[in-house]
Formats: sequence, structure tokens, C-alpha cells
Amino acid sequence: MVQQLQERPPRVDRSSLSFVPELVYFEPASLDYPKGRQIFDWVTREGIPYRMTTSHNRITNLPGDTELEQYKIAKQTLVVGLRKTLKFDTSKPSAEYAIPIATGCMAHCHYCYLQTTLGAKPYIRVYVNMDDILEAAQGYLDERAPEITRFEAACTSDPVGLEPITGSLREVIEFMGNQSLGRLRFVTKFHHVDSLLDAKHNGHTRIRFSVNSKYVIKHFEPKTSRFEQRIEAAAKCAAAGYPIGFIIAPIIWHEGWQEGYAELLESLDQALPHDARGDLTFELIQHRFTKTAKNVIEKRYPKTKLEMDIEKRKYKWGRWGQGKYVYPDEQADALRMFISEHVFERFPESRIEYFT
Ligand code: SF4
Repeated sequence: MVQQLQERPPRVDRSSLSFVPELVYFEPASLDYPKGRQIFDWVTREGIPYRMTTSHNRITNLPGDTELEQYKIAKQTLVVGLRKTLKFDTSKPSAEYAIPIATGCMAHCHYCYLQTTLGAKPYIRVYVNMDDILEAAQGYLDERAPEITRFEAACTSDPVGLEPITGSLREVIEFMGNQSLGRLRFVTKFHHVDSLLDAKHNGHTRIRFSVNSKYVIKHFEPKTSRFEQRIEAAAKCAAAGYPIGFIIAPIIWHEGWQEGYAELLESLDQALPHDARGDLTFELIQHRFTKTAKNVIEKRYPKTKLEMDIEKRKYKWGRWGQGKYVYPDEQADALRMFISEHVFERFPESRIEYFT
């Protein structure tokens, strides 16, 4: 049963939200948690249609006549539930473990690996049992002590885009702020960081902003925050004492790529205040795809300009089975060298963590 409440004037400033779902599912147990109740209250106040579901696995009847329509609607559908699997995945090379606070994303980046990892369930799931998740994180921290353990919060989602709805990221940031051996990292293409600025992070969370050439942002990253908004958010986070970083990914060999990436570094240099540059990191990731991803992307974004010609790529064997197509060595080296040089020229005090 869809419960559509009467239209009421919105009480939250919707412009501060990265998105407002078109449909929300609640697992009944989620309403036993304060976060579940809060989201429920917000949904009812806003007049957003909602349904109850015993489990997200039972969501099979999303509106939409075609698979593509259903996909688009799923990207606007929020599922509020409990995280049951508390065994964390590993998250090399940027962290030891992926901390699961959400799954799925409302943006439409053509190349996004969630296209394949989420399969037929591209809707957005948020978890309300944060105490269980943080307890599991504590277990991993204890297991690895006295080593530092890094957790990545953006392996299955873009948590900043969801933060205005859940507040979960702030909880994890403050949890890690209290841990001498715990570190948090996440990456985002959204600018909704205001609620994180006064969190007690203790310098233990590194916020990285995903940036790219204008060409890549324009053609392949619909429904994310604009480049200028991301940079502004980065400057705010730096001013709030967070270590920050930039992930240039996916690096794409497009026409005019040299100008595009040179311009990107120049824009970063112009926009980022000098006092925001201490302890700055860069991560460089070239575009890659699997055969499965290529098939899915071509179905979901049939007009994409994303080049996925396996004849032009090098096959890189994967550790867990299916390998990926990356750029041939000569192209990969040219990309790596060109971008690294520009990073060091513009940000000599920064460090490039890896190129992959
Ligand atoms: Fe995927 Fe990140 Fe784009 Fe969301 S913002 S669709 S998680 S690449």
C-alpha cells in the first residue's frame, strides 16, 4: 500500500539536500531506531510517498514500464533498513576496510562501478543500526592494534550526498575522532558538507573530493555537484581542520585531455586557499571497465560517449576472477606523467598516494 500523505508545506530547506527521494521503503524494524524514526518523520512531513517492506530483497515492483525506467526510478528510491552483514569488505589500496553506512547513489555517473556491483538493485539503502556498525568497526580496530586501521566509507555509495538525510557520516567521523588507532576516509562528488564542519574529527578523517576535467564532468557525471561547489566544499573542510585530498578519477583519454587535466589542476590551484594545502593528497585512477560493466552501461546510457573499445585497451587480470580493461602502458604512462607533473608543479607540498 502506498501511503501518500496530504501535501503540506515543506519544513526543510530542500535546496540544502542533494536529493529528495520519490519513494521511500521502510523495513519495519528500522522504526525501532531513532534514526529510522527521524527519517520516517521527515518523509511524512515532506509528503513523500512511502511503503513498508519486510526486506529490501522483496522490492520487485518498482514503477516503470521498461528496465531503463525502473532503473531511473530505483535511483530515486530510498530504502531505510538495518545492516545485517557486519563483516566488512577489504578496501585496498586506500584503506583496510570498507565501513558500510549506505549502499547505492542517486547520481548517474556513466562509468560508476556500482552499475555492476549493485546489479538489479540500484536503489539507495541507508542503515539505521549505526551502533552495530560501529561495534563491528571497534572489533576490527582491536584486532589490528597497535596498527592503525583505515576505514573507507564510500565504497558502495556517496555518503556525503546522503548525509543531510541520515547524519550517519558525522557519527562515524566522531567515533573515529575518539579512536587513537582509527582513521576514516571517504570520497565524494557532492558538496553537502556543512553538517560535518563542526564534528569532533580530531584530524582522523580525510575527506577527498573527486574531481575531473570539464569534459568528463559534463559528459559522464550527471546529477553530481558542480566542480566549483566541490572545490568550495573542499576549502570549507580544510578550514574546519580536516585533512583533505583529491581523487582524479576516472582519468579518461579524451580529445584534448592534456588541456583538460592541465586546466583542472590550474582551477584547483586558483580555488584552493593556501592554508588548505597542508597535508594534501592526490589519488590518480585511470578509467577501467569489465565486459559486464560495458554491457550494463551501454544499456543504461545508450548515448554515452564513454569509450569502451576493448581493442584499444589492455587486459589486466583481476585477483578475484574477471579482469579489467585499462589503457595500454604507453597511454597510461603518458596520463600518469602528465598529471603527476602538473600536481607537483601546482601543489609541491602535496603527495600522490598512487596511480592505478
Ligand atoms: Fe557512482 Fe560516485 Fe557517481 Fe554516485 S557519485 S554514481 S557513487 S561515481
